[in-house]
Amino acid sequence: MLSNLIVVKAGGALLTDGAALRRVSEAVARRRLRGERLLVVVSALHGVTDELERAASLALDARSGLELVRDVMDRLRRQHEAVAADLPQSAEVRLRLQPELDAIERLLTGIRLTGELTPRTRDLVMCHGERLAVPLVAAGVLAAGADARAVTSEEAGLVATGSFRVGACDIAASAPRLSALDHELFDRVLVLTGYYGVNAEGDVVLFGRGGSDYTAGAVAAGLRAAGLELWKDVPGFMSADPREVPGARLVPELSFDEACELGLYGARILHPRCLQPLRGLPIDVSVRPVADVDVVGTRLIEQRPPGGTPGVVALAARRGVAVVRVQGAAMVNEPGIAGRILTAMGAARVNVDAVAASMTSLSFTIASSDANAARHALLRLHDDGTPGVEDIDVKEGAALLGVVGDRVAADPSLAGRLMARLGQLGIDVHLVCHGPGDVGLSCALPEGDLRRALLALHEEFFPARPREPRHARSA
Ligand code: ASP
Ligand code: MG
Repeated sequence: MLSNLIVVKAGGALLTDGAALRRVSEAVARRRLRGERLLVVVSALHGVTDELERAASLALDARSGLELVRDVMDRLRRQHEAVAADLPQSAEVRLRLQPELDAIERLLTGIRLTGELTPRTRDLVMCHGERLAVPLVAAGVLAAGADARAVTSEEAGLVATGSFRVGACDIAASAPRLSALDHELFDRVLVLTGYYGVNAEGDVVLFGRGGSDYTAGAVAAGLRAAGLELWKDVPGFMSADPREVPGARLVPELSFDEACELGLYGARILHPRCLQPLRGLPIDVSVRPVADVDVVGTRLIEQRPPGGTPGVVALAARRGVAVVRVQGAAMVNEPGIAGRILTAMGAARVNVDAVAASMTSLSFTIASSDANAARHALLRLHDDGTPGVEDIDVKEGAALLGVVGDRVAADPSLAGRLMARLGQLGIDVHLVCHGPGDVGLSCALPEGDLRRALLALHEEFFPARPREPRHARSA
Protein backbone atom coordinates (compact mmCIF):
# COMPACT_ATOMS: atom_id res chain seq x y z
CA MET A 1 0.00 0.00 0.00
CA LEU A 2 1.42 3.37 -0.93
CA SER A 3 1.74 5.92 1.80
CA ASN A 4 0.48 9.48 1.98
CA LEU A 5 1.80 12.13 -0.31
CA ILE A 6 5.06 13.95 0.28
CA VAL A 7 5.83 17.17 -1.60
CA VAL A 8 9.54 17.70 -2.11
CA LYS A 9 11.17 20.94 -3.18
CA ALA A 10 14.52 20.75 -4.94
CA GLY A 11 15.94 24.17 -5.73
CA GLY A 12 18.31 25.49 -8.34
CA ALA A 13 21.24 25.40 -5.92
CA LEU A 14 20.92 21.58 -6.06
CA LEU A 15 20.79 21.56 -9.85
CA THR A 16 24.19 22.85 -10.85
CA ASP A 17 25.26 20.15 -13.30
CA GLY A 18 24.64 16.58 -14.42
CA ALA A 19 26.17 15.01 -11.33
CA ALA A 20 24.14 17.22 -9.01
CA LEU A 21 20.96 16.43 -10.90
CA ARG A 22 21.74 12.72 -10.64
CA ARG A 23 22.11 13.03 -6.89
CA VAL A 24 18.67 14.61 -6.51
CA SER A 25 17.06 12.18 -8.97
CA GLU A 26 18.54 9.15 -7.24
CA ALA A 27 17.31 10.33 -3.85
CA VAL A 28 13.81 10.79 -5.32
CA ALA A 29 13.86 7.37 -6.97
CA ARG A 30 15.08 5.65 -3.81
CA ARG A 31 12.23 7.08 -1.81
CA ARG A 32 9.71 6.19 -4.50
CA LEU A 33 10.97 2.61 -4.72
CA ARG A 34 10.45 2.38 -0.97
CA GLY A 35 6.76 2.98 -1.60
CA GLU A 36 6.40 6.72 -1.02
CA ARG A 37 4.21 8.93 -3.19
CA LEU A 38 6.23 11.96 -4.23
CA LEU A 39 5.55 15.19 -6.05
CA VAL A 40 8.78 17.07 -6.65
CA VAL A 41 8.72 20.84 -7.22
CA VAL A 42 11.86 22.06 -8.95
CA SER A 43 13.28 25.42 -9.85
CA ALA A 44 15.44 26.40 -12.77
CA LEU A 45 18.99 25.07 -13.06
CA HIS A 46 21.50 27.14 -11.14
CA GLY A 47 21.88 30.68 -12.51
CA VAL A 48 19.29 30.31 -15.28
CA THR A 49 16.64 32.64 -13.85
CA ASP A 50 19.26 35.37 -13.38
CA GLU A 51 20.37 34.87 -16.95
CA LEU A 52 16.81 35.11 -18.28
CA GLU A 53 16.09 38.22 -16.25
CA ARG A 54 19.19 39.95 -17.51
CA ALA A 55 18.61 38.82 -21.09
CA ALA A 56 15.06 40.22 -21.15
CA SER A 57 16.32 43.69 -20.17
CA LEU A 58 19.44 43.68 -22.32
CA ALA A 59 17.52 42.51 -25.37
CA LEU A 60 16.01 46.00 -25.45
CA ASP A 61 19.32 47.47 -26.56
CA ALA A 62 18.96 48.49 -30.20
CA ARG A 63 22.65 48.04 -31.02
CA SER A 64 23.70 44.88 -29.25
CA GLY A 65 20.32 43.29 -28.47
CA LEU A 66 20.33 40.64 -31.17
CA GLU A 67 23.91 39.64 -30.52
CA LEU A 68 23.12 39.32 -26.88
CA VAL A 69 20.10 37.13 -27.59
CA ARG A 70 22.36 34.81 -29.58
CA ASP A 71 24.91 34.63 -26.74
CA VAL A 72 22.28 33.90 -24.12
CA MET A 73 20.69 31.21 -26.26
CA ASP A 74 24.09 29.59 -26.80
CA ARG A 75 24.77 29.50 -23.09
CA LEU A 76 21.33 28.19 -22.16
CA ARG A 77 21.48 25.52 -24.85
CA ARG A 78 24.93 24.39 -23.76
CA GLN A 79 24.07 24.34 -20.05
CA HIS A 80 20.92 22.26 -20.51
CA GLU A 81 22.35 19.98 -23.16
CA ALA A 82 25.34 19.20 -20.98
CA VAL A 83 22.98 17.97 -18.28
CA ALA A 84 20.87 16.08 -20.82
CA ALA A 85 23.98 14.43 -22.25
CA ASP A 86 24.55 12.70 -18.92
CA LEU A 87 21.17 10.99 -19.11
CA PRO A 88 20.54 7.68 -20.86
CA GLN A 89 17.51 9.04 -22.79
CA SER A 90 19.34 12.19 -23.80
CA ALA A 91 17.87 12.33 -27.32
CA GLU A 92 14.30 12.33 -25.99
CA VAL A 93 15.13 14.90 -23.37
CA ARG A 94 16.63 17.17 -26.01
CA LEU A 95 13.39 16.94 -27.95
CA ARG A 96 11.52 18.16 -24.89
CA LEU A 97 13.97 21.03 -24.34
CA GLN A 98 13.86 22.26 -27.92
CA PRO A 99 10.41 23.92 -27.94
CA GLU A 100 11.19 25.69 -24.66
CA LEU A 101 14.50 27.02 -25.98
CA ASP A 102 12.78 28.11 -29.20
CA ALA A 103 10.14 29.93 -27.18
CA ILE A 104 12.77 31.84 -25.21
CA GLU A 105 14.54 32.82 -28.40
CA ARG A 106 11.28 34.02 -29.98
CA LEU A 107 10.38 36.05 -26.89
CA LEU A 108 13.80 37.70 -26.64
CA THR A 109 13.84 38.46 -30.35
CA GLY A 110 10.35 39.92 -29.99
CA ILE A 111 11.55 42.19 -27.21
CA ARG A 112 14.39 43.36 -29.43
CA LEU A 113 12.20 43.97 -32.46
CA THR A 114 9.40 45.77 -30.64
CA GLY A 115 11.81 47.58 -28.31
CA GLU A 116 9.32 46.87 -25.56
CA LEU A 117 9.40 44.76 -22.43
CA THR A 118 6.13 44.56 -20.51
CA PRO A 119 5.86 42.99 -17.05
CA ARG A 120 3.77 40.27 -18.67
CA THR A 121 6.46 39.37 -21.18
CA ARG A 122 9.16 39.47 -18.53
CA ASP A 123 7.31 36.90 -16.42
CA LEU A 124 6.76 34.72 -19.46
CA VAL A 125 10.48 34.79 -20.33
CA MET A 126 11.54 34.07 -16.75
CA CYS A 127 9.27 31.05 -16.19
CA HIS A 128 11.17 29.15 -18.85
CA GLY A 129 14.01 28.23 -16.51
CA GLU A 130 11.61 25.98 -14.64
CA ARG A 131 10.08 24.65 -17.85
CA LEU A 132 13.54 23.60 -19.00
CA ALA A 133 14.38 21.98 -15.67
CA VAL A 134 11.41 19.62 -15.25
CA PRO A 135 12.08 17.30 -18.20
CA LEU A 136 15.67 16.94 -17.03
CA VAL A 137 14.75 15.98 -13.47
CA ALA A 138 11.96 13.65 -14.62
CA ALA A 139 14.40 11.91 -16.95
CA GLY A 140 16.90 11.68 -14.11
CA VAL A 141 14.36 9.96 -11.87
CA LEU A 142 13.45 7.56 -14.68
CA ALA A 143 17.10 6.78 -15.22
CA ALA A 144 17.41 6.04 -11.52
CA GLY A 145 14.72 3.39 -11.82
CA ALA A 146 11.40 5.01 -10.85
CA ASP A 147 8.62 6.08 -13.19
CA ALA A 148 8.33 9.88 -13.44
CA ARG A 149 6.68 12.55 -15.56
CA ALA A 150 7.33 16.27 -15.96
CA VAL A 151 4.36 18.56 -15.39
CA THR A 152 4.13 22.31 -15.99
CA SER A 153 2.16 24.71 -13.76
CA GLU A 154 -0.29 25.18 -16.68
CA GLU A 155 -0.96 21.48 -16.87
CA ALA A 156 -1.25 21.16 -13.11
CA GLY A 157 -3.81 23.96 -13.04
CA LEU A 158 -1.91 26.19 -10.66
CA VAL A 159 -3.96 29.38 -10.55
CA ALA A 160 -2.14 32.65 -9.92
CA THR A 161 -3.53 35.95 -8.69
CA GLY A 162 -1.99 39.34 -8.06
CA SER A 163 0.72 41.31 -9.80
CA PHE A 164 3.26 40.06 -12.25
CA ARG A 165 6.65 39.16 -10.70
CA VAL A 166 5.23 38.82 -7.18
CA GLY A 167 1.93 37.06 -7.62
CA ALA A 168 0.34 34.54 -5.29
CA CYS A 169 -1.25 31.15 -5.73
CA ASP A 170 -5.02 30.87 -5.42
CA ILE A 171 -5.00 27.58 -3.55
CA ALA A 172 -8.77 27.17 -3.34
CA ALA A 173 -9.07 27.56 -7.11
CA SER A 174 -6.08 25.32 -7.78
CA ALA A 175 -6.99 22.47 -5.42
CA PRO A 176 -9.70 20.76 -7.52
CA ARG A 177 -7.42 20.74 -10.56
CA LEU A 178 -4.42 19.58 -8.58
CA SER A 179 -6.41 16.64 -7.28
CA ALA A 180 -6.33 15.19 -10.79
CA LEU A 181 -2.60 14.74 -10.19
CA ASP A 182 -3.24 13.02 -6.90
CA HIS A 183 -4.41 9.91 -8.78
CA GLU A 184 -1.43 9.80 -11.05
CA LEU A 185 0.87 10.03 -8.04
CA PHE A 186 -0.11 6.45 -7.20
CA ASP A 187 1.60 5.41 -10.43
CA ARG A 188 4.59 7.68 -10.74
CA VAL A 189 6.59 10.59 -9.40
CA LEU A 190 5.50 13.93 -10.82
CA VAL A 191 8.06 16.67 -11.33
CA LEU A 192 6.37 20.07 -11.29
CA THR A 193 7.63 23.51 -12.29
CA GLY A 194 8.02 25.84 -9.31
CA TYR A 195 7.93 29.64 -9.34
CA TYR A 196 4.81 30.46 -11.37
CA GLY A 197 1.14 29.95 -12.03
CA VAL A 198 -1.33 31.13 -14.63
CA ASN A 199 -3.93 33.83 -13.93
CA ALA A 200 -7.53 34.08 -15.08
CA GLU A 201 -6.43 35.90 -18.25
CA GLY A 202 -4.15 33.01 -19.11
CA ASP A 203 -0.94 34.94 -18.35
CA VAL A 204 2.05 33.46 -16.59
CA VAL A 205 2.57 35.15 -13.20
CA LEU A 206 5.73 34.61 -11.17
CA PHE A 207 5.65 34.13 -7.41
CA GLY A 208 8.69 36.34 -6.65
CA ARG A 209 12.37 35.40 -6.82
CA GLY A 210 13.01 32.16 -4.96
CA GLY A 211 9.29 31.42 -5.32
CA SER A 212 9.55 27.67 -5.90
CA ASP A 213 9.49 27.16 -2.15
CA TYR A 214 6.18 28.97 -2.15
CA THR A 215 4.88 26.75 -4.98
CA ALA A 216 5.85 23.71 -2.90
CA GLY A 217 4.00 25.11 0.15
CA ALA A 218 0.91 25.96 -1.92
CA VAL A 219 0.83 22.57 -3.65
CA ALA A 220 1.34 20.71 -0.35
CA ALA A 221 -1.60 22.66 1.06
CA GLY A 222 -3.76 22.21 -2.06
CA LEU A 223 -3.17 18.45 -2.13
CA ARG A 224 -3.36 18.07 1.66
CA ALA A 225 0.00 16.32 1.57
CA ALA A 226 1.24 14.53 4.66
CA GLY A 227 4.65 16.14 4.42
CA LEU A 228 6.64 18.92 2.80
CA GLU A 229 10.38 18.39 2.54
CA LEU A 230 12.65 21.23 1.47
CA TRP A 231 15.84 19.65 0.21
CA LYS A 232 18.84 21.92 0.51
CA ASP A 233 22.59 21.88 -0.03
CA VAL A 234 23.05 22.76 3.64
CA PRO A 235 22.17 20.62 6.68
CA GLY A 236 19.23 22.87 7.66
CA PHE A 237 18.79 26.22 9.38
CA MET A 238 21.91 27.23 11.30
CA SER A 239 22.24 29.40 14.41
CA ALA A 240 24.14 31.91 12.22
CA ASP A 241 25.64 31.97 8.75
CA PRO A 242 28.61 29.57 9.09
CA ARG A 243 30.63 31.72 6.69
CA GLU A 244 30.50 34.53 9.25
CA VAL A 245 30.39 32.46 12.44
CA PRO A 246 32.40 29.26 12.16
CA GLY A 247 30.91 27.89 15.39
CA ALA A 248 27.32 28.07 14.06
CA ARG A 249 25.15 25.05 14.86
CA LEU A 250 22.25 23.30 13.29
CA VAL A 251 18.89 24.47 14.66
CA PRO A 252 16.78 21.30 15.09
CA GLU A 253 13.41 23.00 15.40
CA LEU A 254 11.99 26.35 14.34
CA SER A 255 8.52 27.84 14.44
CA PHE A 256 7.01 29.12 11.18
CA ASP A 257 7.32 32.70 12.45
CA GLU A 258 10.97 32.23 13.36
CA ALA A 259 11.73 30.72 9.95
CA CYS A 260 9.93 33.58 8.17
CA GLU A 261 11.74 36.16 10.25
CA LEU A 262 15.08 34.58 9.31
CA GLY A 263 14.01 34.57 5.66
CA LEU A 264 13.44 38.32 5.83
CA TYR A 265 17.11 38.84 6.61
CA GLY A 266 17.94 36.95 3.48
CA ALA A 267 18.83 33.66 5.20
CA ARG A 268 18.38 32.01 1.85
CA ILE A 269 17.08 28.75 3.25
CA LEU A 270 13.42 29.39 2.77
CA HIS A 271 11.28 31.85 0.87
CA PRO A 272 9.45 33.95 3.49
CA ARG A 273 6.06 33.12 1.96
CA CYS A 274 6.61 29.38 1.71
CA LEU A 275 4.98 28.48 5.00
CA GLN A 276 2.00 30.80 4.76
CA PRO A 277 -0.28 28.31 2.92
CA LEU A 278 0.50 25.58 5.45
CA ARG A 279 -0.90 27.28 8.53
CA GLY A 280 -3.60 25.29 10.27
CA LEU A 281 -2.90 22.15 8.24
CA PRO A 282 -1.46 18.90 9.61
CA ILE A 283 1.53 18.84 7.28
CA ASP A 284 4.93 17.76 8.53
CA VAL A 285 7.45 20.35 7.32
CA SER A 286 11.19 19.79 7.32
CA VAL A 287 14.38 21.09 5.78
CA ARG A 288 16.70 18.22 4.85
CA PRO A 289 20.24 18.00 3.50
CA VAL A 290 20.27 16.60 -0.03
CA ALA A 291 23.27 14.52 0.98
CA ASP A 292 20.95 12.42 3.16
CA VAL A 293 17.27 13.14 2.73
CA ASP A 294 16.28 10.55 5.32
CA VAL A 295 17.65 12.91 7.95
CA VAL A 296 15.61 15.85 9.21
CA GLY A 297 17.88 18.89 9.42
CA THR A 298 15.38 21.37 10.82
CA ARG A 299 11.77 20.58 11.64
CA LEU A 300 9.38 23.49 11.17
CA ILE A 301 6.45 23.65 13.54
CA GLU A 302 3.57 26.06 13.29
CA GLN A 303 3.90 27.27 16.87
CA ARG A 304 6.00 26.54 19.87
CA PRO A 305 3.98 25.15 22.75
CA PRO A 306 2.82 27.95 25.05
CA GLY A 307 4.58 28.48 28.34
CA GLY A 308 8.16 27.91 27.18
CA THR A 309 10.86 30.41 28.06
CA PRO A 310 11.79 32.90 25.37
CA GLY A 311 15.10 32.02 23.85
CA VAL A 312 17.29 33.00 20.92
CA VAL A 313 17.30 30.35 18.18
CA ALA A 314 19.36 32.07 15.52
CA LEU A 315 21.11 35.24 14.40
CA ALA A 316 20.72 36.61 10.93
CA ALA A 317 22.03 39.62 9.09
CA ARG A 318 21.58 41.59 5.95
CA ARG A 319 24.24 43.84 4.44
CA GLY A 320 23.75 46.73 2.02
CA VAL A 321 21.38 48.64 4.26
CA ALA A 322 20.90 52.39 4.69
CA VAL A 323 19.55 53.99 7.84
CA VAL A 324 17.28 56.98 7.36
CA ARG A 325 16.63 59.41 10.17
CA VAL A 326 14.19 62.29 9.99
CA GLN A 327 14.18 64.72 12.88
CA GLY A 328 12.29 67.81 13.85
CA ALA A 329 11.00 69.35 17.06
CA ALA A 330 7.65 70.05 15.36
CA MET A 331 7.03 66.31 15.02
CA VAL A 332 5.61 66.26 18.53
CA ASN A 333 2.63 68.35 17.49
CA GLU A 334 2.12 66.88 14.06
CA PRO A 335 -0.37 64.01 14.05
CA GLY A 336 0.14 61.58 11.15
CA ILE A 337 3.65 62.76 10.29
CA ALA A 338 5.13 59.26 10.51
CA GLY A 339 2.42 58.10 8.14
CA ARG A 340 3.20 60.89 5.68
CA ILE A 341 6.91 60.10 5.70
CA LEU A 342 6.31 56.39 5.14
CA THR A 343 3.71 57.11 2.47
CA ALA A 344 6.29 59.27 0.68
CA MET A 345 8.65 56.26 0.77
CA GLY A 346 5.92 54.07 -0.69
CA ALA A 347 5.27 56.58 -3.47
CA ALA A 348 9.01 56.57 -4.27
CA ARG A 349 8.84 52.73 -4.36
CA VAL A 350 11.24 52.47 -1.42
CA ASN A 351 10.67 49.42 0.75
CA VAL A 352 10.97 50.19 4.47
CA ASP A 353 12.21 47.40 6.77
CA ALA A 354 12.76 48.18 10.45
CA VAL A 355 11.18 51.31 11.91
CA ALA A 356 11.87 53.05 15.23
CA ALA A 357 10.30 56.28 16.39
CA SER A 358 10.66 58.79 19.19
CA MET A 359 8.70 62.00 19.92
CA THR A 360 10.85 64.06 17.59
CA SER A 361 12.38 61.59 15.18
CA LEU A 362 11.61 58.71 12.93
CA SER A 363 14.31 56.24 11.86
CA PHE A 364 14.04 53.34 9.48
CA THR A 365 16.16 51.06 7.37
CA ILE A 366 15.98 50.59 3.62
CA ALA A 367 18.16 48.90 1.00
CA SER A 368 21.22 51.01 0.13
CA SER A 369 20.16 50.87 -3.51
CA ASP A 370 17.09 52.92 -2.52
CA ALA A 371 19.07 55.58 -0.64
CA ASN A 372 18.91 58.20 -3.40
CA ALA A 373 15.22 57.76 -4.01
CA ALA A 374 14.55 58.09 -0.26
CA ARG A 375 16.72 61.20 -0.01
CA HIS A 376 14.89 62.91 -2.87
CA ALA A 377 11.46 62.05 -1.51
CA LEU A 378 12.35 63.42 1.92
CA LEU A 379 13.89 66.59 0.51
CA ARG A 380 10.66 67.18 -1.36
CA LEU A 381 8.70 66.92 1.92
CA HIS A 382 11.19 69.29 3.51
CA ASP A 383 10.96 71.79 0.65
CA ASP A 384 7.17 71.67 0.86
CA GLY A 385 7.52 72.86 4.45
CA THR A 386 6.16 69.66 6.03
CA PRO A 387 6.28 70.33 9.78
CA GLY A 388 8.69 68.02 11.61
CA VAL A 389 10.76 67.20 8.52
CA GLU A 390 13.74 69.37 9.49
CA ASP A 391 16.91 67.29 9.57
CA ILE A 392 17.30 64.45 7.11
CA ASP A 393 20.13 61.97 7.38
CA VAL A 394 20.58 58.92 5.15
CA LYS A 395 23.50 56.78 6.25
CA GLU A 396 24.63 54.09 3.85
CA GLY A 397 27.06 51.28 4.64
CA ALA A 398 24.96 49.74 7.38
CA ALA A 399 23.79 46.22 8.11
CA LEU A 400 20.71 44.89 9.82
CA LEU A 401 21.32 42.24 12.43
CA GLY A 402 18.43 40.15 13.70
CA VAL A 403 18.19 38.16 16.90
CA VAL A 404 15.42 35.65 16.29
CA GLY A 405 13.53 33.42 18.69
CA ASP A 406 10.04 32.82 19.97
CA ARG A 407 8.91 35.84 22.06
CA VAL A 408 12.47 37.21 22.12
CA ALA A 409 11.13 40.73 21.98
CA ALA A 410 8.93 40.05 25.01
CA ASP A 411 11.95 39.44 27.23
CA PRO A 412 13.63 42.75 28.08
CA SER A 413 16.70 41.02 29.48
CA LEU A 414 17.60 39.73 26.00
CA ALA A 415 17.56 43.23 24.54
CA GLY A 416 19.70 44.30 27.50
CA ARG A 417 22.26 41.59 26.78
CA LEU A 418 22.29 42.50 23.09
CA MET A 419 22.97 46.17 23.77
CA ALA A 420 25.48 45.49 26.53
CA ARG A 421 27.52 43.17 24.32
CA LEU A 422 27.57 45.60 21.40
CA GLY A 423 28.41 48.40 23.85
CA GLN A 424 31.42 46.47 25.17
CA LEU A 425 32.69 46.21 21.59
CA GLY A 426 32.21 49.94 21.10
CA ILE A 427 29.81 49.37 18.21
CA ASP A 428 27.60 52.29 17.34
CA VAL A 429 24.03 50.99 17.09
CA HIS A 430 21.96 53.18 14.78
CA LEU A 431 18.55 51.76 15.64
CA VAL A 432 16.87 48.92 17.53
CA CYS A 433 13.40 47.58 16.90
CA HIS A 434 11.09 44.65 17.56
CA GLY A 435 10.18 42.28 14.80
CA PRO A 436 6.61 41.21 14.15
CA GLY A 437 4.92 38.86 16.59
CA ASP A 438 7.70 39.20 19.14
CA VAL A 439 9.91 36.70 17.31
CA GLY A 440 12.74 39.06 16.59
CA LEU A 441 14.79 42.01 17.66
CA SER A 442 16.74 43.82 15.04
CA CYS A 443 19.40 46.46 15.13
CA ALA A 444 21.16 48.45 12.47
CA LEU A 445 24.89 48.93 12.79
CA PRO A 446 27.87 49.86 10.60
CA GLU A 447 28.46 47.13 8.04
CA GLY A 448 32.16 47.04 8.91
CA ASP A 449 31.29 45.99 12.46
CA LEU A 450 28.85 43.26 11.51
CA ARG A 451 31.20 40.31 11.64
CA ARG A 452 32.53 41.26 15.10
CA ALA A 453 28.99 41.76 16.33
CA LEU A 454 27.82 38.40 15.02
CA LEU A 455 30.75 36.54 16.57
CA ALA A 456 30.26 38.19 19.94
CA LEU A 457 26.50 37.77 20.00
CA HIS A 458 26.77 34.14 18.97
CA GLU A 459 29.10 33.58 21.87
CA GLU A 460 26.62 35.40 24.13
CA PHE A 461 23.49 33.53 23.08
CA PHE A 462 25.01 30.18 22.11
CA PRO A 463 27.76 29.58 24.65
CA ALA A 464 29.99 26.61 23.85
CA ARG A 465 28.57 23.52 25.47
CA PRO A 466 30.71 22.29 28.33
CA ARG A 467 32.58 19.14 27.37
CA GLU A 468 31.08 15.92 28.70
CA PRO A 469 33.16 14.99 31.74
CA ARG A 470 35.19 11.89 31.06
CA HIS A 471 34.64 9.26 33.67
CA ALA A 472 37.46 6.92 34.34
CA ARG A 473 36.16 3.45 33.79
CA SER A 474 35.84 1.66 37.04
CA ALA A 475 37.22 -1.82 37.10
N1 ASP B 1 14.19 30.03 -10.29
C1 ASP B 1 13.50 31.03 -9.51
C2 ASP B 1 14.52 32.00 -8.93
O1 ASP B 1 15.71 31.81 -9.08
C3 ASP B 1 12.65 30.45 -8.45
C4 ASP B 1 13.39 29.70 -7.37
O2 ASP B 1 14.59 29.51 -7.47
O3 ASP B 1 12.77 29.28 -6.39
O4 ASP B 1 14.13 32.95 -8.34
MG1 MG C 1 16.30 29.62 -8.65
